[in-house]
Amino acid sequence: MGVAVLGLGNVGTEVVRVLREHAADLRARVGAPVVLRGIAVRRTDVDRGVPEDLLTTDAHALVARDDVDIVVEVIGGIEPPRSLILAALNAGKSVVTANKALLADYTGELAEAAERNRADLYFEAAVAGAIPVVRPLMQSLAGDRVNRVAGIVNGTTNFILSAMDETGADYSEMLAEATRLGYAEADPTADVEGYDAAAKAAILASLAFHTRVTAADVYREGISKVTAEDLATAAAVNCTVKLLAICERVEDVADDGSPRERISIRVYPALVPRDHPLAAVNGAFNAVVVEADNAGRLMFYGQGAGGAPTASAVMGDLVMAARNKYYGGRGPGESTYASLPIAPMGDTPTRYHVNMQVPDRPGVLAGVAAEFAKRDVSISTVRQEGAGEGARLVVVTHLATEAALAETVAALADSEYGVSVTSVLRLEGTKE
Ligand code: NAP
Repeated sequence: MGVAVLGLGNVGTEVVRVLREHAADLRARVGAPVVLRGIAVRRTDVDRGVPEDLLTTDAHALVARDDVDIVVEVIGGIEPPRSLILAALNAGKSVVTANKALLADYTGELAEAAERNRADLYFEAAVAGAIPVVRPLMQSLAGDRVNRVAGIVNGTTNFILSAMDETGADYSEMLAEATRLGYAEADPTADVEGYDAAAKAAILASLAFHTRVTAADVYREGISKVTAEDLATAAAVNCTVKLLAICERVEDVADDGSPRERISIRVYPALVPRDHPLAAVNGAFNAVVVEADNAGRLMFYGQGAGGAPTASAVMGDLVMAARNKYYGGRGPGESTYASLPIAPMGDTPTRYHVNMQVPDRPGVLAGVAAEFAKRDVSISTVRQEGAGEGARLVVVTHLATEAALAETVAALADSEYGVSVTSVLRLEGTKE
């Protein structure tokens, strides 16, 4: 089995190391030798610690070689990976990639090329690094009905939020610390604004709901607006704040009265109760919780990034692809038969934690409660803190739609009660 590795950075270096160090085991597991034919890089003036004759800057020529059966793409970004993967698939070669950004936007084009050419396209490493979650969703749970996938799928933001929770420091201080320690990139936008998590959410939702989902279908908010005060508010109600990627079925009634099923895919910072399993996922770790009709709740936890952990997932895919090629046959391809519509964020039900500054006088509490009730936002608990002009009301709601909550907040701001809404935090991981 001839293998081409495209990219020799954090992940590529570890993939090449494992390929060379574990050649005998790989041969036994596949049934045939797995031979590294070449490695594509961009720069030639770097000492790579691999034999010079394996290196090339012409990735297209490497992919096209007759003795390459499987292409491992660990370059990242859209181009040239997109055209390289398409060239490989169109030549009937199998592809293993860790490229979530590409998959989240071009999944259809790539999956169709794989289908047309009866080739394997594997991407376990694209979501949550070492953690096996793609294959469980695609294969182990293929006979179940998945209702929800929720997780922490970005280590950089989890490191920052965990550190804010522990130290009480604010966002910019902890972002600087994450950068200093190498957890955040020089340009942290993709991580802190939730783009990376949104790409992974799109991939998870596609697999869980047998529906083609792209990053544009994902509602996204990052963590750059999370304040030390939000963390303190969370701590006061025995919660912490996590950037969650949530994919779930939303069942409700359409305007014509008929039942309907849609899916909601969203990424945002949310309050998570400290006794919820996701609250215990700290630092750069990732975790994904899957809820299915028959399996119940499953939790996957581990290292979501890093060269060696990510290479573990790549190598698992590589062994599968090599076995399939050697014995003939193919792994499961894309499944989009359900084609469920995407529910707009306004229709998505969530619980909320609403903080308000209120004047402490008779009638205000009743007036505030009435504004919630008018829009069908049912209140679970109300707590008043302090007295006089500086009094605070903290309202926790039952499930309500984003649209209803937004209307309530706007109405409160316009009301005669002198209410000022200081923060609205979504609350996840609790029963209604
Ligand atoms: P990286 O360290 O930036 O490495 C990228 C590699 O691609 C470099 O070796 C670079 O060559 C090479 N490259 C860039 N443009 C090229 C071109 N036109 N032709 C040939 N080679 C080219 O990236 P990484 O962190 O290993 O990530 C790779 C992929 O894995 C990305 O899709 C990423 O999202 C995914 N991933 C990474 C992690 C992680 O922890 N790092 C985790 C999960 C998934 P030079 O060395 O010459 O610059």
